[in-house]
Amino acid sequence: MRFNTKLLHGKTSQGFESGQTLPPISQVSAFRYESMEDLEKVFEHKKMGYAYTRIGNPTIAAFEQRINELEGGVGAVCTSSGMSAIAAAILAVCESGDEIITGSGLYGGTIGLFHDLEKLGIHTVYASDLSESTLKSLIDEKTRLVFAELISNPSLKVVDIAGASKVAHEANIPLFVDSTTATPFIAHPLLFGADAVIHSTSKYLNGGGNSIGGVIVDGGKFKWDFEKHTALSDYRKYGQRAFLLRLRTDIWQNLGGCMAPVNAYLSYIGTDTLGLRMERICSNADKLAHALDKLSGIEVNYLTLPNHPYHKYVEGELGGYGGGILSFRAGSKERAFAIINSLKCVCIASNIGDIRTLVIHPASTLYVQASREEMEAAGVHEDTVRVSVGIEDIEDLIEDFTQAIESSRK
Ligand code: PLP
Repeated sequence: MRFNTKLLHGKTSQGFESGQTLPPISQVSAFRYESMEDLEKVFEHKKMGYAYTRIGNPTIAAFEQRINELEGGVGAVCTSSGMSAIAAAILAVCESGDEIITGSGLYGGTIGLFHDLEKLGIHTVYASDLSESTLKSLIDEKTRLVFAELISNPSLKVVDIAGASKVAHEANIPLFVDSTTATPFIAHPLLFGADAVIHSTSKYLNGGGNSIGGVIVDGGKFKWDFEKHTALSDYRKYGQRAFLLRLRTDIWQNLGGCMAPVNAYLSYIGTDTLGLRMERICSNADKLAHALDKLSGIEVNYLTLPNHPYHKYVEGELGGYGGGILSFRAGSKERAFAIINSLKCVCIASNIGDIRTLVIHPASTLYVQASREEMEAAGVHEDTVRVSVGIEDIEDLIEDFTQAIESSRK
C-alpha cells in the first residue's frame, strides 16, 4: 500500500475491539481488574493489559503503532509534548559527563533544553554543520549522541542523514533526528541511517492545531556499546532494544510525560489526512516562496528556491518536497512587524504545521531566551519573519503577502 492508502487501511488502522474505524478514546487514569492475581500478571508483563495511563493506554498505543508503522521503526513512545520527547530520548542515553553533538539552526526550545542539560553535566557541542568532515573532527571519547533536526526550524538547514549516521556509527554513536518539520510524508530518517526519530506531534502530524504531543520512534538497529553508553547498562540484556526498553519502562515512565489519551485520538485522526495536507502545504509554500522571491527588498529562505544552499536535498532525502516553512528577512524589525500586522489571511501565532497559515517574528518570541549568537546561529535575525504555510487558496496567500510587503515600503 502507498502512503495515503496505508494510513486509511493499513495494519495500524484496524483491529480495534468492536471494529471501530478509529481507535476508541480511553480517557481514563486506571484500568479495573477482576482479581489481584490478574493485575499482578500485568505488572509482571506476564499478561497483556493496561494498568495506569502514564504507563500505557490503548488509545495512546494506537497512535504509537501508527507512527511506528509510518516511520518503519521497531517501537514508539508517545509523550506529552515534542520537548518532552526530546528530553526523554536524550536522558535515556546520556548521563553526567556525556556529550551531545548537534548542528546549528535548532528550534529555540531545544536550545533551551540543552542549556538545562548543562546543569545536569550533559554538555552540548554545536557544530557549524553536520557534514561528515565536521562531525569527524568533533566526535571524541565523551560523545554519546549526535542530535539533528532534519529540516531545521526556521533556518531550513538540511542534514545529510546517510553521511552523518555513517560517521556517527563508525564511532559507535547513534544519530537521533527531530523530523517534526519533515514528517513521514516527506522523509524517512530511519531508512537513511538514523537510529531514532522524534516528532513534535503538535505540528504537522496533528495538523489541526488542537493538541500538544510528541513521539519517539526507535529504529532498533543500533548496536549499543554498554561500556560507552553506561546510561543503558542496566538494559544490556536487551541488546539493540535497550534504548526502547529503558525509555518505556524507566526514564519516560518516571519523568511522567505521557500523552493525554484524547490528544492521542486527535493526533491519530489528524494523521489520516497527513498526505493530503502535506501535498497542499508543500505546494502552497513552494508557490508562495517563488512569488515572494520576485519582490524587491526582502530575502526569501525556502528550500525549493534554486539558489538555496540545501536545495540539492529536495530531490534526494526530501522526496521532491521543500516542507511547509519559509522565512524572509524584511530589512528591519519595524518592517517585519508592519508586514505581519497588515496580513489578513493568516494567524499571528506561535506554532507551525497547522492547516492555517501562521506567521511570527521569531527573534522577539521563540528566541527571546537565546543569546544573540545562538539566535543568529539558528538563522534568526532581528528582521526575520517565519511563515508556516497552510492549506488556504494559494492566490489569496500570494495576494495577501504581496500587499503587506508592498504597503510596508510606504
Ligand atoms: N522540535 C521542533 C522542530 C519544533 O519546531 C518544536 C516546536 O515548535 C518542538 C520540537 C517542540 O515541540 P512541542 O511544542 O510539542 O513541545
